[in-house]
Amino acid sequence: MALIDLAPETRSFIGSDKKMLIGGEWTEPSKDAAIPVINPADGETLARIGDAAGSDVDRAVKAARRAFDEGPWRTMKPGERALLLHRIADAMAAHAEQLAQLETLDNGKPIAFARMDVQAAIGAMRYYAGWADKIHGSTHSIAMPGEHHVYTLKEPVGVAALIVPWNYPLVMAAMKLGPCLAAGCTAVLKPAEDTSLSALRLGEIMLEAGLPEGVLNIVTGHGHTAGDALVHHPGIDKIAFTGSTATGKAIAHAAAEGLKKVSLELGGKSPNIIMPDADLDAAIPASAFGIFYNSGQTCTAPSRLYVHEDVADTVIEGIAAFGKSMTIAPGLDEDSQIGPLVSQKQFDRVTGYVRQGEAEGAEIVSGGRRHGNTGYFIEPTVIAKTTNDMTVVREEIFGPVLVTQTFASEEEAIALANDNPYGLAGCVWTRDMATAHTMAKKIRAGIIGLNTAMGADWDVPLGGYKQSGIGRENGRDGLELYLATKSVFAQLKPAW
Ligand code: NAD
Repeated sequence: MALIDLAPETRSFIGSDKKMLIGGEWTEPSKDAAIPVINPADGETLARIGDAAGSDVDRAVKAARRAFDEGPWRTMKPGERALLLHRIADAMAAHAEQLAQLETLDNGKPIAFARMDVQAAIGAMRYYAGWADKIHGSTHSIAMPGEHHVYTLKEPVGVAALIVPWNYPLVMAAMKLGPCLAAGCTAVLKPAEDTSLSALRLGEIMLEAGLPEGVLNIVTGHGHTAGDALVHHPGIDKIAFTGSTATGKAIAHAAAEGLKKVSLELGGKSPNIIMPDADLDAAIPASAFGIFYNSGQTCTAPSRLYVHEDVADTVIEGIAAFGKSMTIAPGLDEDSQIGPLVSQKQFDRVTGYVRQGEAEGAEIVSGGRRHGNTGYFIEPTVIAKTTNDMTVVREEIFGPVLVTQTFASEEEAIALANDNPYGLAGCVWTRDMATAHTMAKKIRAGIIGLNTAMGADWDVPLGGYKQSGIGRENGRDGLELYLATKSVFAQLKPAW
């Protein structure tokens, strides 16, 4: 095992306690208590972040409010906003390796995946830079008597609270900041308490690139304190949240109290259906990679396998063998394919689910154990002989754990796939494209993969049915979350 050397700029960034970004200044949190940043590969403390108090959140929201109300961000020419987003993307690219190393240290993910995340985050900034000067309303011929010039304006919705989870910290931050800033909104970003480093570094980069003070504020801290204060703050106009369904429900309540606009990207337990005519040479590795990538900590991971009984043994054995062949190692090892889970809490949660599956009568086909003695590593795990009423099948495990079942007909596969509270994603593997498209329509989920287990692009809407969320991020839909429509009626000639 050979770990890469950390870049000097990575070392220096983690060498000090982190401050919060409020009104263009890096400020100490008002509470003394700091949150340790733990390296999940070895359990060692890397640095410390602030635990924002309500007063810190209040200062951050007020700074964002001032920046929105007094400008210049909102009133700037859209082309200038676009240029600045491109400059931010350039600056991210210039520090790409540092951002990737921070992500791996903090989250645990393999460095190769972290580098892809950084490129994806840069892509989000560039994609939404492209939208900044293409935001416009419409004109209308209306039925009212008289003559009128009627048009709509698309205006930024105001101050946005952006709350992100720990599984793709930088990508999730960029995915919200891109459309938020392109629309002309200002923001208070709260990264997850387990993984705040890359967002804090991004804040520095954005200031260095010329983002006006107060446009982006970053508060770190726990969800039930800092996050709760943020979503309840009266100065917030819009909440964009990605995280668990349980927290999403609490945030929906907070949004309802203040009648704030809200978008929720929540959990998933996505079905992966393998039909008897599928190309198994493609389906087996892709299904395995889909669930084990990022150690299973992906909201859209195909985590419930429904495989036709004719090919079940081949597929389940094949996925288990693929899992066993993966290199489990610290993320800083270039060869790592499976890094540690993000935290002790997540490790306990995932191993607890595996034990519960056994207790409920399921069969552990492979994996299921801790790997090594340090860090939060768990082997890629395949569980067979499950039924849809088992906890391991109903609930999101969010680890490298696949639950499997067999089916005998297309109708049965669809019924099993839809019998779950979540509806984020789903996949179908078949050589018959008519069957594939028909099944795509029948699965109640926001994202469908046909002969692929993964699919995401900045231009393509992402979001869930059922308990997987409200609203769609990415593409034009993602931009609309940060825009309000104003209708203007100008009377040119009265009717009477
Ligand atoms: P989480 O809900 O525990 O936390 C997410 C964020 O919300 C964190 O920043 C946390 O501090 C904050 N938070 C927690 N309680 C809060 C509260 N009461 N008020 C305000 N903020 C609060 O989720 P997690 O465990 O960090 O992330 C994993 C979850 O995220 C999984 O369920 C996963 O499926 C989901 N996720 C969904 C998508 C998607 O696009 N649908 C993408 C990635 C992750």
